[in-house]
Amino acid sequence: PGSWLGPLTRTRTTCGYCGVGCALDVLTRDGEVAAVRPAGDGPVNRGHACVKGRFAHGFLRAGDRLTRPLLRGSSGRLEPVSWEEALAHIARGIRAAVGEAGPGSVAAISSARSTNEENYLLQKLMRAVVGTNNVDNCSRLCHSPSAAGLTATFGLAGGTDAFEDVERADCLLVVGANPAEAHPVVGARLLRQVLGGARLVVADPRAVGLARHADVHLRPRPGTNVALFNGLAHVLLAEGLIDEDFLRSRAAGLPELAAVLDDHPPGRVAAITGVPEADLVAAARLYGRAERPAILYGLGVTEHLHGTDGVRTLANLAILRGAVGTGRGFGVNPLRGQNNVQGASDMGALPDLLPGYGKVRDPVARGRAEQVWGVRLPEHDGLRIPEMFAAARAGDLRVLWIVGEDVATTDPDANRVVEALESCPLVISQELFLSETARRADVVLPAASWLEKDGTFVNFDRRFQRVRPALAPPGEARADFAIVHAVAAALGADLGCPTPAAALAECGRVAPVFAGISHERLDREGAVPWPCPEAGRPGVSRLYQDRFATADGLARLAARPYLPPGEAADDDYPLILVTGRRWAHYNSGTMTRRSGAVEIDPTDHLDLHPADAARAGLGDGDPVLVESRHGQATLTARVTEEVLRGQVFCAFHFAASRVNALISSHADTVTSCPEYKVTAVRLRKPFR
Ligand code: SF4
Repeated sequence: PGSWLGPLTRTRTTCGYCGVGCALDVLTRDGEVAAVRPAGDGPVNRGHACVKGRFAHGFLRAGDRLTRPLLRGSSGRLEPVSWEEALAHIARGIRAAVGEAGPGSVAAISSARSTNEENYLLQKLMRAVVGTNNVDNCSRLCHSPSAAGLTATFGLAGGTDAFEDVERADCLLVVGANPAEAHPVVGARLLRQVLGGARLVVADPRAVGLARHADVHLRPRPGTNVALFNGLAHVLLAEGLIDEDFLRSRAAGLPELAAVLDDHPPGRVAAITGVPEADLVAAARLYGRAERPAILYGLGVTEHLHGTDGVRTLANLAILRGAVGTGRGFGVNPLRGQNNVQGASDMGALPDLLPGYGKVRDPVARGRAEQVWGVRLPEHDGLRIPEMFAAARAGDLRVLWIVGEDVATTDPDANRVVEALESCPLVISQELFLSETARRADVVLPAASWLEKDGTFVNFDRRFQRVRPALAPPGEARADFAIVHAVAAALGADLGCPTPAAALAECGRVAPVFAGISHERLDREGAVPWPCPEAGRPGVSRLYQDRFATADGLARLAARPYLPPGEAADDDYPLILVTGRRWAHYNSGTMTRRSGAVEIDPTDHLDLHPADAARAGLGDGDPVLVESRHGQATLTARVTEEVLRGQVFCAFHFAASRVNALISSHADTVTSCPEYKVTAVRLRKPFR
């Protein structure tokens, strides 16, 4: 309502923090946010939102918000310049790199924070104008194993069901996720389901919030997921808790899986994982005897040396039970960390995949894009993010354009990332603030935030939803959509699709799975899930009801043996570090640290068991120096039994703590997703 203070304007948009996709009503007055209210008719959140979505908007008007382009001048300092100057410098750099070293010397990291339309436009510019597939997005660092694993298993790179179906589940298997903190609206819905009678199995090394309500809490050693999932599958098979009709008619690979499972009896799995045999069997029986079981999982499954195997062997459980593609249960569903991490990949900001997941190497998929864009496209896969950094260090990358990501803080082996940034002749950072990455860039472009832009996001259950600007960006900051167009224009190219609505419409011509989705339809209907090939028909929220999207229509059981993680504890580094999120903060903390969250959670803590704290002579609140083979980080000790002896846990929300300098370069063998979840470390008291 309006008041003597002046009228309020209400803007319906989608939360720009996590991948749940809460619909929010943003109330503004005189160009400022007055309040944010969760939308009662929000399709996912139904009137709920968490502390981040509701209150973490103070960053919008933070005093250090970037409002003008910056260019590193002859003094070596970043100096304010006009947009024309910044764009001309970028265009000169790209032209020179392409002319001297070919299109492969230019690369772009797109953003899971940006809209679908912005991701679509950036990958189009890289492919159709620069002539390279060197474009990737930060799903490389989190859920790329989900995309690879779910595609290999079921045929499409998304979760299998609509979130509301979780309300029909009678048993929840929640693996490697802490929804109470990282996805609070989902966490609350899951808890309500459990309080209503659903059984709950939590698999996580830590005593995460939901574990308090679990019938069985499995605490596998970090890096042993594949053994755990094979052990559960072994019990399902041994005790006949399988759906034989489903396996006969809709799945392939059972004999091969059975052979691998022979090697994973509960006793051996208990020895590998540290999970007591009785708990393993009890968990398998709960899942196996449920009528409508559900699997939800997070980065505790994907961020491993064998993350894709983890996704696939977890999915085996749903296939064995016939609990996917049958309308029974809730299939296999990843909880996505960032607001648009699903959409960034859907839009083809990937080095091997075009919009809609057509392979770059597939002449049919490539031909469709060539026809729409009117150019010949490069035929070979581009560089993944870790490969971009390696190429920069080797002197083979001349231009690196980074949109909305603070790679110097968030990427693993952070010291080597900094080395890569310093080795690359032209680094462009498109950002809200002068992040650790932006500070090292040659050109910094001031960008608009999620509350200042127009477009769409795709949430964790494949729903397209509208994003609408509640405010204008400050100063000369621009939306990524406008920036990509401006860079193209500086290169002498016209990307077409002048508006986000036009970009989504064009994307539907390149990727038929999105063809039925438009801004106009979303404005009318609120949310539409993909696949949605026709405007006149609803999108598909429950996938695979008749057949899987594989070539023969069958789900693929994965026969994957347990293989050890990249690092193990030893005498020099006796503890295993796991990293994750805390509830008040979001990723590198760029926005939440400027929005009052530091008053709730003022620093990155290292959780450690009382016995390990005693051995290190550390007490609650003490500063602690954490060392790995790759770097050091200074944190504050938090002594707690939430972690097991021999394991420590911390978040990565404060750039100053340099947590990701600790992380190794080990990465998923299929997708290059870093092994954030298993790092051998030791502790010291820092010198004063
Ligand atoms: Fe935003 Fe996620 Fe919180 Fe919802 S649960 S308000 S999407 S951060």
